[in-house]
Amino acid sequence: MPEFDVVIVGGGHNGLVTAGYLAKAGARVIVLEKRPLVGGACVTESPWPGFRINTFAYVCGLLRPQIVEDLQLPKFGYETILYDPQYAVPFPDGRRLLMWLDEGKTQEEIAAFSKADAKAYPKYIQFWNDVLDLIEPTMLAPPVPIADLFGMFTGPEAERLLRDLFLVSAKDFLDEWFESDHLKAALVTQAIIGTFNGPYSPGTAYVLGHHNIGILEGHREVWGYAKGGMGRIADALAASAQHFGAVVRTGAGVRRVLVEGGRAVGVETEAGETIRARAVVSSLDPKQTFLRLVPRDAVPGEFLDGVRKVRTRGAALKFNAALDGLPEYTAMPGAPGPHHNGTIDIIPSMEYVERAYDEAKYGAFSSHPFIETQYQSVLDPSVAPPGKHTMTCFVQYAPTELRGTTWDEYRPKAAEIVLDTIEAFAPNVRQVVKHWEVVTPTDMERVLGLTGGNIFQGDITPDQIFSFRPLPGWANYRMPVPGLYLGGSATHPGGGVLGAPGYNAAHVVLEDLRGTAKA
Ligand SMILES: Cc1cc2nc3c(=O)[nH]c(=O)nc-3n(C[C@H](O)[C@H](O)[C@H](O)COP(=O)(O)OP(=O)(O)OC[C@H]3O[C@@H](n4cnc5c(N)ncnc54)[C@H](O)[C@@H]3O)c2cc1C
Repeated sequence: MPEFDVVIVGGGHNGLVTAGYLAKAGARVIVLEKRPLVGGACVTESPWPGFRINTFAYVCGLLRPQIVEDLQLPKFGYETILYDPQYAVPFPDGRRLLMWLDEGKTQEEIAAFSKADAKAYPKYIQFWNDVLDLIEPTMLAPPVPIADLFGMFTGPEAERLLRDLFLVSAKDFLDEWFESDHLKAALVTQAIIGTFNGPYSPGTAYVLGHHNIGILEGHREVWGYAKGGMGRIADALAASAQHFGAVVRTGAGVRRVLVEGGRAVGVETEAGETIRARAVVSSLDPKQTFLRLVPRDAVPGEFLDGVRKVRTRGAALKFNAALDGLPEYTAMPGAPGPHHNGTIDIIPSMEYVERAYDEAKYGAFSSHPFIETQYQSVLDPSVAPPGKHTMTCFVQYAPTELRGTTWDEYRPKAAEIVLDTIEAFAPNVRQVVKHWEVVTPTDMERVLGLTGGNIFQGDITPDQIFSFRPLPGWANYRMPVPGLYLGGSATHPGGGVLGAPGYNAAHVVLEDLRGTAKA
């Protein structure tokens, strides 16, 4: 009898969710995380004394409320801050658009650009509410076959929703709703985040939907901060899993998955230790799992071909900084002003961001990138020393590979481009930045094992979601080696600090351990 029922490879938030549910159900579980801290892409680190920086993921809201409740996360330090306004966009013409939690207040802002758009805005919000009503119940369950999913959309209205959600580009979608280029720029950000596609690419309307599933404090379609930083979410998940009896080990990289008699029976760590278990759950992406950890002869060649074809292109880098003061935006005077509460997006138009993508398509970092900035310290002083601030910038487009150079060589140049871009809107930015780091797609692969630096362990475009995720035919978390499961963001319903893939994997493993799986 092995010492553990389940060994989980990777202590990202999904691995920890899986551990929490399995341990709560009475299974003997161990999580093995190669880094010195848990959380994966959902961590907070201190590259400079006194500053707590969200190295990778920076805003929360996607984590399913049921997981927060079942795993009793508030008891273990999970606390969120809902910010308002949600978005502030300064434009080169000196105008600005703020998107507030209050729909009426946002309509007033939009009316300054277009009265017709202000009128259409509540219907647009209702459209996403309807989509959420449909999508939400599909998240905490293995995915239905895509044909069945499409079959759920019957009747002219539903068919239109299907078309809008899965088939069109974000640009075409927004063009059908609104006339103001300023408003469309503000709304298109969530359609391209982390995705190596421009807003003119078909399928990006779905990415917009994926980022609209946030729920916080009774508000839908919102983002917020994890108090103390994103790492607090992972810490709470680890504490909860341990409370229910799981063992969580850091500094414990896995070198290979052990397969005996065609079955996964445990793992060997990088230190050479063998840990045997009845089941192995990998929360890494399929490329890391099957091209690095699982013996090649344990899986059919056809399956490996499918794994190689999963699209894992990097799209973004992070520019994180410690500040002495706050950047002052020409179009939004005051520091701090309300705009510093939430996300400030540098995205003058949809065309601007499509052009940024054009450059990256041919192997260059965008010379005028789209930048999404947070100053968490403004609402959460616990993340910076008194009087100081944190700044995290999600910067797009940064392709996996740069033509003619490497990310390690190009890092200082990338930092200059980011600062130049912000400076055009906030002229004092260079004066207030005291320390900075650039986290490139190469770093994301090296540090976390995100292949290609793809932030979602695989694009979340319509051809890689639901029963196509991680690859067609293998969407129910069980892999071709009996006893081996995938349970990270590479699986349904995909990337983001959602916890849903980890939840679904845990329930499939439990069915198998108890022998209650449906035939
Ligand atoms: C730059 C960036 C910004 C993002 N921004 C946001 C955001 O603001 N909001 C949001 O909701 N989502 C965001 N995301 C997406 C989200 O963070 C991820 O989808 C999610 O955190 C992935 O969780 P996971 O548990 O599936 O995988 P990961 O977090 O990738 O966890 C995998 C874990 O496995 C470990 N590991 C790797 N190899 C081994 C090995 N051989 N042995 C043992 N352990 C190993 C890794 O160290 C890691 O801890 C962002 C992601 C990135 C990268």
